[in-house]
Amino acid sequence: MTAPTPLIAGNWKMNGASAALAEAKAIADGVGDCPARVAICPPATLTHRMSQALDGSKVLVGGQDAHWDDAGAFTGDISAEMLADAGAKLVILGHSERRAGWRETDEMVANKVKAALRAGLEPVVCVGETLEERDAGKALQVVTGQVRGSLPQELAGKTFSIAYEPVWAIGTGRTPTTPDIEEVHRAIRATLVEMFGEAARGVPILYGGSVKPSNATEILHAAEVGGALVGGASLKAADFLGIIRAL
Ligand code: PEP
Repeated sequence: MTAPTPLIAGNWKMNGASAALAEAKAIADGVGDCPARVAICPPATLTHRMSQALDGSKVLVGGQDAHWDDAGAFTGDISAEMLADAGAKLVILGHSERRAGWRETDEMVANKVKAALRAGLEPVVCVGETLEERDAGKALQVVTGQVRGSLPQELAGKTFSIAYEPVWAIGTGRTPTTPDIEEVHRAIRATLVEMFGEAARGVPILYGGSVKPSNATEILHAAEVGGALVGGASLKAADFLGIIRAL
């Protein structure tokens, strides 16, 4: 079984207007022939222009969320089809900021994954425990439960990835120890293999939560870590490239 090709994806969240396209271009220009697949997930308002600006480069453009329906009366929402039409190739689903802020359940995330597949987008499905859950010794139970609940069987044979993002590590500067990251990634891998068979050994399991150039080498080389989902440090080309080059 070949090891997964790593994916390093930047999540720009609700940051970035037209001027930020220059930063995306600088990232694309600096990536070189790194061994990872690289993506930037900008706000939806930039999807189309960024896709055009990065066309022909190694950097893919992704969405940060998508509705579970393909179209309809959902004011303010965006569908996976629309993201694909705007040039996106992948989409982040089930980010903890959406699970917490918008009360997204595993079932909703699973339906969003199905919508992404219908649109031809590659899902990047986020899971992760809160600090209370970790302190209660429930991290593995919570994370593997989210994996089971958020991944529909329709993913069998499809290209997708998981991002393990401890909620307490996102935007806080705190990261788990490397053995803690490895323990959770191994549990996710075992769950994926139970659900999808041996082929699931090729699914990249990204780590996310305060990844920066100074900790990227250790995190990216940990067992079962197949790349990173990067928030704050993906907004500046120099920082994001520092992480990409750590691989
Ligand atoms: C994220 O929001 O997906 C994330 C990992 O953020 P940060 O890198 O800023 O912790």
